[in-house]
Amino acid sequence: MSNEKKLHVRYTLLALIPLVLFFVIAGGTVLYSPHNNTTHLISFFLALTLSIIFELLIFRFQILPNFVELDKTRQISLELEQGARLLVRRDLELTRVNDQLSELDAAKAGFITVVAHQLRTPLSGVKWTLNLLLKGDLGALNEEQKGFLLKAYESNDRMISLVNDMLGADRVESGSLNYSFSAVLFADVAHKVLQEMLPLAKARKLSFRLEPEIEHLPQVYADPERVRAVLQNLLENSLKYSLPPGEVVISGKAEGTFVRIGVTDSGIGIPRDEQKNVFERFFRAENALKLETEGTGLGLFIAKSIIKRHGGKIWFESDENRGATFFFTLPIVKFNGQLPRKEGTMST
Ligand code: ADP
Repeated sequence: MSNEKKLHVRYTLLALIPLVLFFVIAGGTVLYSPHNNTTHLISFFLALTLSIIFELLIFRFQILPNFVELDKTRQISLELEQGARLLVRRDLELTRVNDQLSELDAAKAGFITVVAHQLRTPLSGVKWTLNLLLKGDLGALNEEQKGFLLKAYESNDRMISLVNDMLGADRVESGSLNYSFSAVLFADVAHKVLQEMLPLAKARKLSFRLEPEIEHLPQVYADPERVRAVLQNLLENSLKYSLPPGEVVISGKAEGTFVRIGVTDSGIGIPRDEQKNVFERFFRAENALKLETEGTGLGLFIAKSIIKRHGGKIWFESDENRGATFFFTLPIVKFNGQLPRKEGTMST
């Protein structure tokens, strides 16, 4: 029976109670003393009064509405229970789908790692052979041949850096990127990276400037290899996304318990509506895609993970066509209690 029908039956029964009461009292009196008219009259009025009181109790003083409310509450709690059960079921389904997605993601990451590893060895072989040819170790080459080989060498190099980025991003995601922390002078890292990148800057008719404060920064608690990778990525981006002539400035400042590094260029900048995605995997802004077709969109994703692992932050300020400044922070050694004792550089 539906809830509405049940309620109907209950209403009818309740409405019948005073009537039944009346008949029971009046009828009972007639049966008990059939010839006493005064008793009949008294009992008739008594039965009438009682049935009216009962009627009033039920309908005026809301005994009935209470039943209705009770029924409504019961109905709501039933619906809530059903809803909760549905939610639990959905939650289980979502967890199952999520697990499946994680498994697929892991399989995909594994596949990428295997492919990237397999590619790296032959690419290194090609690089080595091209190098021999270009140096003339395998016989003299004319200028035209050299020109073609140089192009092949550069393409091969780009493939190697793409494969390295893919492997780097994969390690970042799986958390298997190894770190070796020590007390590091950022200036040492910066000098090394600049030395390596000078030829690229010259080729692009751009220049680097290291601000003098860099030399006086306190030691940071960092993995020098990983910091080198971050700085290299930021500098490469500054060169890639700038038009000559231009200057890339590296600045540094000690702020509280951190050192803050800035890399400023006067290049194409990053459009406002795309800024939120800059640290996402594989993201490349529209203006960057037009200017520089080479790129994976993985560099900043990796850089962010590295800086986070150091306990620092990475962010940027930019406007389209007005250049960009990328900042990152690294913890200063003397404020960091985790430096291994054997390094002998921990101060109190
Ligand atoms: P990639 O340079 O290989 O595309 P990154 O992860 O290093 O990948 O950078 C992601 C995107 O962020 C770039 O494609 C570009 O759109 C934007 N970007 C990064 N650095 C700069 C910069 N200095 N100036 C302008 N855009 C930048």
